[in-house]
Amino acid sequence: TTTTGATATVRLPDAEATRAFGLALAGVLRAGDLVVLTGDLGAGKTTLTQGIGVGLHVRGQVASPTFIIAREHPPLPRGDGSRGPALVHVDAYRLGSLDEVDALDLDSSLDESVTVVEWGEGWVEALAADRLEVTIARPRGGDAAAEDADAGERVVTVRAVGDRWAGVPLPAAPVEGAGR
Ligand code: ADP
Ligand code: MG
Repeated sequence: TTTTGATATVRLPDAEATRAFGLALAGVLRAGDLVVLTGDLGAGKTTLTQGIGVGLHVRGQVASPTFIIAREHPPLPRGDGSRGPALVHVDAYRLGSLDEVDALDLDSSLDESVTVVEWGEGWVEALAADRLEVTIARPRGGDAAAEDADAGERVVTVRAVGDRWAGVPLPAAPVEGAGR
């Protein structure tokens, strides 16, 4: 049976808040977890993943890859010498077919790392019964033609699906300190 865990909705006034929310989300993530990010181009999916990367303390800057579809960020040692899971960041925007999805061979990542997939809605769910479904929306998206299309707050909704998340509280508010 599938247990649906908590849901959380948070308003993010600026990009820094989006990063801070990713940092907070990293606090509940562990090896084997899957996060599915949904939202229009420019919604803030990569920005949120950057915060997750900071929170997991992994190597390298999370970016929008031009050619690379999946990038692994290995964990760096924390103050006490321990390491958390690696972050595997998948940007499926350019994936054209399910064959290309198969070719990514995400199985070991789904077992051992934290896997974050942008544009995964509609296919990545089939790979894991347990996942966080994160949707980012622009409530004032009607201004998209305005001078600065990036501006304007976002609303992020997190839905926890599967037994893994039963009873796990989700971060409800952005925290300070996402900057490095
Ligand atoms: P996506 O990966 O969904 O295409 P990005 O993460 O690349 O989107 O973000 C697009 C732009 O939106 C960036 O310029 C980023 O700084 C900005 N942005 C992210 N979150 C917010 C927010 N909460 N409020 C305003 N702008 C934001
Ligand atoms: Mg992106």
